[in-house]
Amino acid sequence: MTHSLYYKFIIGYLVFGLLGFITIATISSDMTYDFLLETKSDALYDEANMLASDFSQLYRGRNSNLNEAAPRLKAAATYLQGEAWIVDTTGHIVADSSVPAKTDVTLSDFDPTFMGNRSYTIGNCFGVFPYEVLSVSAPITGNYNTYGYVLVHLPISAIQQIKDNILNILYISSGIIFGLSLIILLVFTVTVYFPLKKITIAANQYAEGNLKHKLQLKTHDEMGYLAATLNYMSDELDKMEEYQKTFIANVSHDFRSPLTSIKGYLEAILDGTIPPEMQEKYLTRVISETDRLNKLTQGLLTLNSLDSKGYLSRSNFDINRVIKDTAASFEGTCDSKNIVLDLTFAENITMVYADLGKIQQVLYNLIDNAIKFSHPDSTIFIQTTLRFEKVYVSVKDTGIGIPKDSIKKIWERFYKTDLSRGKDKKGTGLGLSIVKEIIQNHGETIDVISTSGVGSEFIFSLPRAMNL
Ligand code: ADP
Repeated sequence: MTHSLYYKFIIGYLVFGLLGFITIATISSDMTYDFLLETKSDALYDEANMLASDFSQLYRGRNSNLNEAAPRLKAAATYLQGEAWIVDTTGHIVADSSVPAKTDVTLSDFDPTFMGNRSYTIGNCFGVFPYEVLSVSAPITGNYNTYGYVLVHLPISAIQQIKDNILNILYISSGIIFGLSLIILLVFTVTVYFPLKKITIAANQYAEGNLKHKLQLKTHDEMGYLAATLNYMSDELDKMEEYQKTFIANVSHDFRSPLTSIKGYLEAILDGTIPPEMQEKYLTRVISETDRLNKLTQGLLTLNSLDSKGYLSRSNFDINRVIKDTAASFEGTCDSKNIVLDLTFAENITMVYADLGKIQQVLYNLIDNAIKFSHPDSTIFIQTTLRFEKVYVSVKDTGIGIPKDSIKKIWERFYKTDLSRGKDKKGTGLGLSIVKEIIQNHGETIDVISTSGVGSEFIFSLPRAMNL
């Protein structure tokens, strides 16, 4: 079995982690550095300006000896964790916060506009520092003169250090979040991956024909629902397989018995076991058996055509007329058993919307059964009743009835009750299956009420025709 889904998920997870790490190391690092440069230079610049305005009072009229300025310069430099100078217009450092003070240094090629149009520069400040510093400068002015400049410096390494500290916090937080997101992987494994594995195993079992395999998955989510559906599907397929086996066994049995008797009679006639004067009697039996075979084939064909989602050719017709016509076709049979068909209609004409030929077949099968299983000299009641937009047709006899435990089975193909076997040797057990299929194809219902030894009543519904 392939594990690709799981591996893909893990690879996706690792790629996500790696990209997150790269993002922090590149984009986040650059952004933090730029941000720190910006804020630090702003702070230095503000401080330099403040110092410059303070010193403009002290500086006026003097060239050097700014001893008074030194403590203020030192305090500012300590606060900023940098270095501050006062430089005169020639570039000579006249005061310095650092120890020892670089007051004997003159900046070579000092250019007061060295910051250009930016608020800070990065470099070694005219070669004074052996490392990179962030420098800002503010002019000391007064009486429309520029006396000198306040220069404040901060080593770039200090900014780098702050950036590294911030990034460390980011790395640790991201690492924790990445670790916590393992929970997603865990949830995925438990709720999707394991169930999916079980479902795949089950699907393989079904594909191999093991329809008895049961999927043990009882979660109340989509996976559980899918498992329940698959279980239901395999059950249905299993039932279908069982049904097909019994169906074929029944068909073979029902075909074999008439064929065996036909063969027996014909062989007996041929080899002279049956004398010529008796032959007519046995040939009549042969014909009766072939009639049964014919009926069986016809029944199977009808069921087959209904199975393939029986196409109905519906029309409006009077159900009373159809009942009367069908009843009339049993006149001969009824006379021979002295059975009376009692018809009662809810109204003179009741129009229904259904497939006339198929409903005729339903009535035929029900009346045929009622006569077959009725005692001689009895009455069969056929009745219609109306309820809302439905017509209910009932065929009721006072015959042998159906035992309680057979009631559900009578609709199955080839089913015959033990009681009826003796009474009706020609029955195929297909009649009621055909009736049920036809009524179901119409979207209607059929029910039976029966008591063994008392009689049976079959009631089915039909839709009334709407546009009379
Ligand atoms: P068949 O009548 O050809 O045997 P059906 O499918 O029509 O097949 O009926 C199935 C079985 O149901 C019958 O064999 C019989 O046992 C029982 N049955 C059907 N109708 C009646 C009835 N009116 N009274 C008693 N039993 C009946």
